[in-house]
Formats: sequence, structure tokens, C-alpha cells
Amino acid sequence: ELSIEHLFKAYGNHPVLADMHFTVNEGEFVSILGPSGSGKSTLFHLIGGILEPDAGDIWLDGEKINGKRGSISYTPQTPSLLPWRSILKNVMLGGEIQGNIDKNEAIELIEYAGLSGYENAYPFELSGGMKQRAAFIRSLLSPQPLICLDEPFSALDEFTRLEMQKWLLSIWQEHHRSILFVTHNIEEAIFLSDRIIVLSQTPAYVKEIFTIPFSRPRDEDLLLTEEFLAWKK
Ligand code: ATP
Ligand code: MG
Repeated sequence: ELSIEHLFKAYGNHPVLADMHFTVNEGEFVSILGPSGSGKSTLFHLIGGILEPDAGDIWLDGEKINGKRGSISYTPQTPSLLPWRSILKNVMLGGEIQGNIDKNEAIELIEYAGLSGYENAYPFELSGGMKQRAAFIRSLLSPQPLICLDEPFSALDEFTRLEMQKWLLSIWQEHHRSILFVTHNIEEAIFLSDRIIVLSQTPAYVKEIFTIPFSRPRDEDLLLTEEFLAWKK
């Protein structure tokens, strides 16, 4: 369980987070919606341990992780692939650091993400959306139970986005991960999430939290997507 407790963060005298407070339960899919520039990526930098809060705490399963890197699987908004490593080696990075790499799984996921043939290519040879997908796979291959994704599908066309959404849901359900997901796409948030957190303008705080009532099993949603993908072909 992730618990964000009364976080405050300012850049110089420019406050960006003001009393940010919420939790992500184990196995939950939570999306964050909020105006551009409100502080979503800043929040993720704090959770990822790249920045330290001015006040407040971040707890993960009872451990305080303020300023601590590596506790969660974090994919920044601008995917940071290492330019000197091939796509396959980039994708395997998270698992490598944690000491459990499965090369076959990496290759399988690369294929699934539509990047077959690019295993040995370098990031500069990929388009923006391809790099985004490679970074996305890398975060899924990291073993941490909480995955934080900052607008992972923003650079993708609608069809690829649908495939990635479907895939993310199946991985989430299969591996019992918790997911914290930033998006500007309200339909995407409704389709994917158990709960949606809506942030205010900067300095950001939690304005509203919606629980999405699923009127039918989500598997059926997956089926619908499958039908849609079949239709598209
Ligand atoms: P978007 O939806 O456009 O990605 P966001 O909600 O992720 O926006 P942030 O990137 O967290 O917003 O930025 C929040 C505010 O903090 C903005 O006003 C931005 O200018 C400011 N900011 C972000 N990073 C820094 C930084 N390193 N130094 C100074 N100010 C920053
Ligand atoms: Mg952002």
C-alpha cells in the first residue's frame, strides 16, 4: 500500500504541491487527472525518490520512502532510455538492477509492444511513441509491486493506445500489481481505473476522488477491446 501523507513541495518560492494526501491500496489501479502544470510529474518525482518533499511523508508498505529510489517502478513522462544501450538491454534494465532478468520474457514483451526487430536497435533509431512503449515495457519488467506511469500512452495513436491499455490491464490482473497512472484522457482513466484522483490547479491538492463502479466484469471490457481490435484489422 502506498500512502501519501500531507506532502508539500515548492521549487524556490513557487509552491507546486500543497497538502497532497491519498492512498493506493494493494492491487488497486488509481489514475490521476489534473490540469497541465498542476504538479503531477512533481508528485511522481517525489514518489520515485528523485526529489524530496519539503514536508510530509511517503509510505510504501509501512516503510518511509522519502528521497529513496528504487522502491517503486517509475516511468517518467519523458522516457529516459539509455542512449548507449540497445532496446533489449534498456528493457531489461529494471530486472537487471533487481537481479532477476528473464530475457525471453523481455523479448516476448518487445514483440507484444510491436517492437520486434528493434531488439538490437538504439533509442535514437526509434520514434517517440516507440521509445515510450520501450520505457513502458521496462517498467512492467521491474519487479516492484507498485508501478507509477506518467502519461505512458500520450504519444500513441488511438489503436496502439487501445492495445497498450488492454495489455496493461491484463498484466495488472495477472501479476497483482498496484498501479498509479497519470493521464489527460478522461475516458482512458474511466476505462482503466478503480479510482480516479482529480487534482486542483497548482499548487496541487486532491480536489475529488471518484470510485468507478464497474457494472460488469472488467474481463468483458477486455473482450470488447479484443473485438474492436479484430474489427480494426
Ligand atoms: P503536465 O500535465 O503538463 O505534465 P504536471 O502536472 O506534470 O504537468 P509538473 O511537471 O509537476 O506538472 O509541474 C508543476 C509546476 O512545477 C509547473 O508550474 C512547472 O513549471 C514547475 N516545475 C516543474 N519542474 C520544475 C523544476 N525542476 N524547477 C522549477 N519548476 C519546476
Ligand atoms: Mg507531467
